[in-house]
Amino acid sequence: MIPLLDLKKQYLSIESEITDALKHVLRSGQYILGPTVSQLENQFAAQLGVKEAVGVANGTDALILTLKAYNIGEGDEVITTPFTFIATAEAISRVGAKPVFADVDLATGLIDPDQIEAKITTRTRAIIPVHIFGQTADMDKINTLAQQHQLVVIEDACQAFGAKYKGKPAGSLGDAACFSFFPTKNLGGLGDGGIVATNDDTIAAKIRQLRVHGSSQKYFHDQIGYNSRLDAIQAAILLICLEHVDDWNTKRRKIAKKYNDELEALVKVTTLKEVRDNEAVYHLFCLKSVEREKIMRALKMKDIGTAIYYPCCLHLQKVYHSLNYKHGDFPNAEQLSETIFSIPMHPFLTTEEQQSVIDCIKEVART
Ligand SMILES: *Cc1c(COP(=O)(O)O)cnc(C)c1O
Repeated sequence: MIPLLDLKKQYLSIESEITDALKHVLRSGQYILGPTVSQLENQFAAQLGVKEAVGVANGTDALILTLKAYNIGEGDEVITTPFTFIATAEAISRVGAKPVFADVDLATGLIDPDQIEAKITTRTRAIIPVHIFGQTADMDKINTLAQQHQLVVIEDACQAFGAKYKGKPAGSLGDAACFSFFPTKNLGGLGDGGIVATNDDTIAAKIRQLRVHGSSQKYFHDQIGYNSRLDAIQAAILLICLEHVDDWNTKRRKIAKKYNDELEALVKVTTLKEVRDNEAVYHLFCLKSVEREKIMRALKMKDIGTAIYYPCCLHLQKVYHSLNYKHGDFPNAEQLSETIFSIPMHPFLTTEEQQSVIDCIKEVART
């Protein structure tokens, strides 16, 4: 079996480091927030080159608390992509604001800045570009638009730890950035976790307050907050992963290059494009094909894992019927959801395993 990703192999490669670190936390008696979480926040901010990082319970909460910190809620609109995981739009809805979608670029799956402008109204407060599959959105264009219209830019960097845009890290490119430590992410823990990165001290302080019941001083509460804290155990594990993640991302990029080189010429499949000036970290490796069912079936016969991210655009989800979108509103996002599929991609994929995947695709995609 060649799985889509192999978390067990990743864990085993750092098992002794993790068990040592866990012992330290387990013996400390401090299990939620505290010094280990602070250490992770400092290390994370330093690696990204931003002033502040605030650990929270998960990536979805990172988005929710960030929107709250910017006072975005009832009556506000936030522009984002319809081609993402539900959490991006869900966070917007959860704070009482309205998600407004803008179509993506067919070649990359990233939100198209040229589609954003037409969606801006007097109610628009923010843009949430998603660095989908580990490649950053066109942040220069998005930031310029945001400046012109006085909008906040919140990066959904959940899939993109380590990605670079014109040499700068994903997560340092907007007003604030949200990361998830869900185990499958490029930087993932062994449970739930998330973090917000920002250069804005005021926003960071607000999120620090929101994550602990709206309190800055224990048992004194300034606002209605959340219980959205990061565990020390996860922070200790993530501190170890932070030391390895650059190496893991380099391996992902190497695997992606081989896939691109070998599959580029095939007529029946298209790879997603890595944009110039971008350094993608391939959270997933995606292909497009009108014959994806046939290709996925052939891979399955050889015990090779595949999956579809994402089979249904957000504007067509049942939960968003009330927004009154219809099929045809975002042709590029829709075409992607109808043709895209992912093949095995993780830092521990062996050369032989990757060759089997390539050989199998070549065999079906040429006939
Ligand atoms: C994973 C993910 C999230 C949510 O993160 P959780 O930690 O699962 O809450 C949000 N946006 C995107 C694009 C993601 O991939």
